[in-house]
Amino acid sequence: MKEKDYSKFFSHLDLKDFRLTSARKALLDVLEYDHLTFKTILERLTEKGFSNVATLYNNLDFFVQNKVVMELKIDGEIYYDIANNNPNHNHDSHIHIVYKDKDKNPLYITETQEKSLFDVISSHPLFENEELEYIQMVVSVVKK
Ligand SMILES: [Zn+2]
Repeated sequence: MKEKDYSKFFSHLDLKDFRLTSARKALLDVLEYDHLTFKTILERLTEKGFSNVATLYNNLDFFVQNKVVMELKIDGEIYYDIANNNPNHNHDSHIHIVYKDKDKNPLYITETQEKSLFDVISSHPLFENEELEYIQMVVSVVKK
């Protein structure tokens, strides 16, 4: 089997001394398609044989500092998400949508790249004299 290419997650960095340990690879695997809390990440990593809390804490901190992973604060809880090479956003601009459907446990987080949504904000008269650097938003919705 072909070895997975993890370098896409670090393409914005120049890290010569960066060590991609198996624990870091496992962390990226777990986060690749999901938005997860520390607790859930630890549960999933434990299933893969990586149950060291301190290591996870350090690796997450390292990734967040280097914008490989970003933190999303939703209802007082922090969710982690891949920042770089995420097809749905980059580490600068993203609009996340939180679906709170009682049937779904406990909430579902996704993101949108809907250009018109970004256009509405960037073309708003409020910013007519400014250049937009980035847009970061969380939109929380409940089914009608
Ligand atoms: Zn995301």
